[in-house]
Amino acid sequence: MTCSTPGCQGHLGKFDNCLDEALYAESLDGNHETTGDVDAHGYITLMIVEEPYMFSFGDGRTLRVPAGNFLLIEDSNGFVYTQSFDSVLDVRDAFEVAESEYAQWLGQDD
Ligand SMILES: [Zn+2]
Repeated sequence: MTCSTPGCQGHLGKFDNCLDEALYAESLDGNHETTGDVDAHGYITLMIVEEPYMFSFGDGRTLRVPAGNFLLIEDSNGFVYTQSFDSVLDVRDAFEVAESEYAQWLGQDD
């Protein structure tokens, strides 16, 4: 699949676009704050990109990842999408809301 991301060389179908795929791959390094669960409102990773950089996929594709403030969300079907925020403050607020929603969801489960 291809998308409107500059430099798209085709991305995996569970992502809307290459940027989401790159951010997801990056999120797997375990160095990011996460909350939630795929069975709740989604498994959410906080991704703050301070400087643009070139990301290399394992298969030779590369993509320029822009600076930005993202929540990466994986749902129970394995689909992954991102939300973009104007500022670090905004993305942190949204992450905290997601954390409290998740805590509520956990509470209901007991
Ligand atoms: Zn693409």
